[in-house]
Amino acid sequence: MINRPKILNKGIEKHDEHPDESHGIETLSVHAGARVDPATGSRSTPIYQTTSFVFDDSEHAAELFNLQTFGYIYSRISNPTVSVLEERIAALEGGRGAVAAATGHAAQFLTAATLLEQGDAFISSSNLYGGSITQFGTSFPKLGWTCHFVDGTDPHSFEAAMNKNVKFIFCESLANPGSVICDLEPLSDIAHRHGVPLIVDNTLATPYLCRPIDWGADLVIHSATKFIGGHGNTMGGVTVESGRFDWFQNDKFPGLTKPDDAYHGITFAETFGDFGFTMKMRSVALRDFGPTMAATAAWNLLQGVETLPLRMERHCSNALAVAEYLNAHPKIGWVSYAGLRTSPYFELGKKYLRKGAGAVFTFGLTGGYEAGKNLVNSVELFSHLANVGDTRSLIIHPASTTHRQLTEEQKIAAGAGPDVIRVSIGIETLDDIIADLKQALTNT
Ligand SMILES: *Cc1c(COP(=O)(O)O)cnc(C)c1O
Repeated sequence: MINRPKILNKGIEKHDEHPDESHGIETLSVHAGARVDPATGSRSTPIYQTTSFVFDDSEHAAELFNLQTFGYIYSRISNPTVSVLEERIAALEGGRGAVAAATGHAAQFLTAATLLEQGDAFISSSNLYGGSITQFGTSFPKLGWTCHFVDGTDPHSFEAAMNKNVKFIFCESLANPGSVICDLEPLSDIAHRHGVPLIVDNTLATPYLCRPIDWGADLVIHSATKFIGGHGNTMGGVTVESGRFDWFQNDKFPGLTKPDDAYHGITFAETFGDFGFTMKMRSVALRDFGPTMAATAAWNLLQGVETLPLRMERHCSNALAVAEYLNAHPKIGWVSYAGLRTSPYFELGKKYLRKGAGAVFTFGLTGGYEAGKNLVNSVELFSHLANVGDTRSLIIHPASTTHRQLTEEQKIAAGAGPDVIRVSIGIETLDDIIADLKQALTNT
C-alpha cells in the first residue's frame, strides 16, 4: 500500500536543506524550493508527469478538498515540479508565495480575475509590452474590467486617474520595449494611500536586477518565457505575493475578505493570512479557468533559472557595450537604453537596477522605416523574431509586429513608433554581436 506522507517525511528529515533569505541570489537561484526527491533521492527535481495524486483515505481526500491540509490533488491546481518553480521565484523576489501559470498572459489574467469583480477598474502605465496593452484594453473590457492607461513616467497621472472602482495599479519595472523605468516608490505610495495594491511586471528586470517588493510592490508578475527560462524554448508565467498587503483595510476585495461559497464559506485572507491571495488565485482562478503550467515546462524553466544571475550579468554587460556602439554610429539617430548616461532613465536605473539596465532596448535609424526594415533583413547572427530574453541576440521592428495591433498613438505611447528597432542582446561573444550589427548597418 502507498503511504505517501511517511515517505515524504523521511526524505525531508534526511535532506531538508531549504535556503533562507540570508542566502545570496546565486544560491537561491540554484536551490530555493527544491529538496532531494523524497521517494528516490534524485538530486535534480524530477518531472512529476502525472495528472493526479492518490489519497491516503477518504478523510485525507476530504481535508484536501476543503483546503484543511496541504497536498496534491490534481495537476490543474498544483504539481510538485511546478511547486518547486513557484517556491524558487517567490524566494528570488522576496515574496511569501507564488502561483505559476501557462504563460505570462495567463498569470496576468488570473491575477486580475482574483482581484476584480464586474464593473471594477485598474490603472496601468501605457509603457507596456504590446500584448498586455491589447489584453487590458481590448479583452478585459469584455469581462467588465476597465483599464485606465496613463503616462507611466509621471506618477501624478496615476493619482489623477484614481476613482472608487480602481482595485490596483499596474506597471512594468523596466518596460518592454523602450528601456523606460517606472518610479516604483511613488507608485506604491499612491496605491497604498488609496488602499489598493501595486502590481509590477518584473519580466525584463528579473529579480537579479530589481526586487519590486523591496520598493513597495504587493504583487510581482513574470513572463517566465523570457529571462527566467532564458533559452527561448518554454512558455510560462508566475505571480508572486509579497504577503504584506492588508486586504481587510477596506471593502474593495470581497473575493478575499468575504466567505467564499465555493469553499464552504472560507474567507481566504483570514484563513491563509499573508498568503491568502496566492491560495485564492490557485484554488479558485486557476482551478476554474485552468491555464496551468505543465510539469515539463516547470522543469525546463528550473534549468533556466539556475543560471539567471550568470546570464543576466553577461546580458547586461553585452547590452551596455552594444548600446554604446550604436549610440556612436552615424546611421543611428537615437538609442533608448537606461544604462547610457544620456538616457532620461539613467538616474532611476541607478536606483532600481543597480547591477545593470537589462538587455532589451530600442534605437532608431536616421534612415527611418525603410532603413529599419533593411537592418532586420541584413543581420546574420541576430535572429529576427518576436521574443526577448533568449541566450541568442534578437531583433525586431515592433511597429510592424509585436505592437502592430495598436493605433499609431498607442504605438508612440508604448515606445514603438515607425522608426523604432528593438533588440534583446544575448550572451554570445561581444565582438561577434557588434561585428554583425556593423556589417548589417553597412548594408542599410
Ligand atoms: C512576453 C511578455 C508578457 C507576456 O508573457 P507571455 O509569456 O508571452 O504570455 C508580459 N509582459 C512582458 C513584459 C513581456 O515581455
